[in-house]
Amino acid sequence: MKEYLKHHEWQIIEEGFDPHVNKISESVFSIGNGRMGQRANFEEDYSGETLRGSYVAGVYYPDKTRVGWWKNGYPEYFAKVLNAPNWIGLHISIDNQKLDLAKCKVENFKRVLDMKVGLLSRSFAATLPDGKKVQVESKRFCSMANGELGAIRYAITPLNFSAKTTLSIYVDADVVNKDSNYDEKFWEEVHKEATPGKAIVTAQTKKTLFHVTTGMVYTIESEGKKVSIDRTNVEQREKFAGNVVQFELAEGKETVIYKYGAVLSSENHPKDKLVAACHKVLDEALVNGFDALLDAHIKVWEHKWEECDITIEGDVAAQQGIRFNIFQLTQTYTGEDERLNIGPKGFTGEKYGGSTYWDTEAYCLPFYLSTAEQKVARNLLIYRYKHLPKAIENAQKLGFKNGAAFYPFVTMNGEECHNEWEITFEEIHRTSAMAYAIRDYVHYTGDENYLCEYGLEVLIGISRFWAQRVNWSADKNKYVILGVTGPNEYENNVNNNWYTNYLGAWTLRFTLYAIEYVRKADGPRLTEIVSNTSFNEKDETAKWKDIVEKMYYPEDPKRGVILQQDGFLDKELLRVSDLKKEERPLNQKWSWDRILRSCFIKQADVLQGLYLFEDDFDIETVRKNFDFYEPMTVHESSLSPCVHVILASKLGYKKQAYDFYLRTARLDLDDYNNDTEEGCHITSMAGTWMSVVKGFGGMKVKDGKLHFNPFIPDQWKSYSFRLEFRGRVLKLKISKDGVETKLESGSPLTIVLKGEEVALK
Ligand code: BGC
Repeated sequence: MKEYLKHHEWQIIEEGFDPHVNKISESVFSIGNGRMGQRANFEEDYSGETLRGSYVAGVYYPDKTRVGWWKNGYPEYFAKVLNAPNWIGLHISIDNQKLDLAKCKVENFKRVLDMKVGLLSRSFAATLPDGKKVQVESKRFCSMANGELGAIRYAITPLNFSAKTTLSIYVDADVVNKDSNYDEKFWEEVHKEATPGKAIVTAQTKKTLFHVTTGMVYTIESEGKKVSIDRTNVEQREKFAGNVVQFELAEGKETVIYKYGAVLSSENHPKDKLVAACHKVLDEALVNGFDALLDAHIKVWEHKWEECDITIEGDVAAQQGIRFNIFQLTQTYTGEDERLNIGPKGFTGEKYGGSTYWDTEAYCLPFYLSTAEQKVARNLLIYRYKHLPKAIENAQKLGFKNGAAFYPFVTMNGEECHNEWEITFEEIHRTSAMAYAIRDYVHYTGDENYLCEYGLEVLIGISRFWAQRVNWSADKNKYVILGVTGPNEYENNVNNNWYTNYLGAWTLRFTLYAIEYVRKADGPRLTEIVSNTSFNEKDETAKWKDIVEKMYYPEDPKRGVILQQDGFLDKELLRVSDLKKEERPLNQKWSWDRILRSCFIKQADVLQGLYLFEDDFDIETVRKNFDFYEPMTVHESSLSPCVHVILASKLGYKKQAYDFYLRTARLDLDDYNNDTEEGCHITSMAGTWMSVVKGFGGMKVKDGKLHFNPFIPDQWKSYSFRLEFRGRVLKLKISKDGVETKLESGSPLTIVLKGEEVALK
């Protein structure tokens, strides 16, 4: 854990320059707008430790797989969202000395991310090797009002000299991915141009041939007037275009560089119109200027916060944590474009390749369901609907037939691109995360027509997969599922992982329900789906019913617990408290085989199932399983603690719930897992939101009604959250004195609060 960031309700604050934490800060202070994102790299040169990263949504590269032993069925590539052309860079040299914080004495360094307005600021005084001292104040944002625009205000004041300064201001597509498998460069130049005041580069990704046009314009001002420039040269080299400008810096006088960057991709413009569109964005930015662009950006943030803020009184660390999570989620995915999704690291790093995981359905969907317009969650479902043909192809490659759909563990375009055998082939529960998401959406929104439009086709495909993946055990007289990995990836190739068996059978049940629903709601549509999917309803559903009835679930009647998988009790049942501090995290300290043999659990597995299907189990079952599994859980996946908050809250384990909450909410701010420098854990941030609303707030939907069973952690004075629900907006404030509910808009609504119906008007 590293606790160097100051606690503040709305801001993330770093004071003092410590190069050792620079990469962590670059992740934490990242900014984005759903279309583009940017790590908090310095604008000026920095020769110290850094991970430079700019990202453009949806632009990826299929990097050739590298594995030691090839297995039949492995994907050919691992897709990665690319480190994209740099639009922020400035080389500054004063009297021929570069401004580079790794080579200067740095004082009063401060980096601030103001989450309320989406603005990153930095200030410092730097003494160059020859004693010249400058004060720098920079501000930067990726516009939420125009997803193709970023803006920088960079102000320099010489404190003890006047001198000639050379500024190289540029865009640069000669960037590399740190995680490139074969040290390849992924970008090729297509076009570049530079004129005084402006520069544009279009680069294309190899293989996928996405075009990205990156451009910049700038002005240099002092006291509100244009600075007189001695000389402007255009500068061009491969994949790089810019200007070199010389001007005088006068002692005590602030000179401000305004740089506007445009980032456009062929996902949103015809390739031959990209350059013209880029000129337009840049010209408009110049006309509007920094302050007006910032105002427009702030207005969008104000609106976003109205929709999704959570307030916590009496605990600044907890308040900062939840806002940080909401901030990052909001700037990662805006829900406007159904082709996009949410990478586990969002726009804050390269790990996990920016691709889509089951994280979206199992963790992120509830956040968007409750805090954004309905179309946002719907777009996330349609993304998977569009991938259905690929999921069917994916299943075929592995030997499944008849339209069985096996959704990938990791994907960019619907194809599987993950290549660890135990996950690619065995972590099969993920295909049903798509089914669960359909159920979650329909339950929450009441939009059952989704089943007719898109849902049922997906459900039939996934159910066919399960019907072929199970096998009949003559010995047990039950259906079993062999050779799987459950959500707990610290077990591989196990038989009858309870979570997987439960989810498989549940999917079949839900599909049977959905068929009946569609038959009643829109008979002709059912006929159409039956024909489109060549569905042999009678035989296929008969088999499904049989599986539902005769699925095997491992359990231990003596202890009254569900078993994570067959043979779990053969393990030495230790507790996490038995481990020495030096042994943690296990995945960095123990050999893999030792982890697999141990009882230690990476992330919620049985407990994940008890959370997802909470109404299927009584509280005593939840308690026994929580008491059994929680002490063995090491939470080495960021997705784990939030599930434990929700269950601990339900069980009244207040202290544990609060401790897990802090861990999930401040995971990146305090670098709990020693990996924030690689990027922030964006998908688990939705889990933090769930911790408050579903955990402390005890929110769930049952029989079309919103239920709440809130409690307040002892450390808090109050907390409040806001939900969109079926055309209404409601707000709950929970304090030590009780619960205040308010219907902010929409028609009257009856909710169930601590078991009692309450009519809201
Ligand atoms: C977890 C997976 C998750 C992935 C991406 C892994 O560590 O075990 O469940 O999908 O991270 O967040």
